[in-house]
Amino acid sequence: MDDMDGLEVTECTRCPELVDSRSRIVDGTGPADADLLFVGEGPGQQEDEQGEPFVGRSGSILDEKLDARGLARQDVRITNCVRCRPPENRDPKSQELDNCFPYLQREIEQVDPDVIVTLGKVPSEHLLDRDVAVTTEAGSLAQADLGGAVRDVLICVHPAATLYDRSQEETLDAALDKAAGMVSGGGAGGQSRLGDY
Ligand code: SF4
Repeated sequence: MDDMDGLEVTECTRCPELVDSRSRIVDGTGPADADLLFVGEGPGQQEDEQGEPFVGRSGSILDEKLDARGLARQDVRITNCVRCRPPENRDPKSQELDNCFPYLQREIEQVDPDVIVTLGKVPSEHLLDRDVAVTTEAGSLAQADLGGAVRDVLICVHPAATLYDRSQEETLDAALDKAAGMVSGGGAGGQSRLGDY
């Protein structure tokens, strides 16, 4: 893929509306060999401004939740289904998700995580290629052929869901407990660097 250098998309104009609305392409962050890979929907305003996924309020919640499990943002990889901010924070269109999928596939293949955690409905449905009732399925483990292998995908609510519905906090906590347990305890994927924490 000549418009991707390592894990960074250097130049891309596949989605005309997103090219107009973005300030920059927001690539994933974190170790290139992370055991945990979080996948969100796409950059919002602050992500677009700062060039990093999951900053702002959602990012603070995620950081806090990781910290409570002995993890830090630097220990995990965080990326998105689309790398450019949709106008007015609308959901990415299916064509845009498809356009960006090869980059995500490449990232998954290179990082080769033990578990992929989908943060919210859009990434859950995109990666599993089916309808997902996130609030009832959060914490469930599924398998999907991604990045050249069948991989464990843990469905999770979006961190921001806890801002609007406090009952979602328990759901988020349970899913993240499971994810942390999978990389530190060798649950589904073995490993790990995170076992040191
Ligand atoms: S969202 Fe992905 S495919 Fe679309 S323009 Fe941005 S980098 Fe390219």
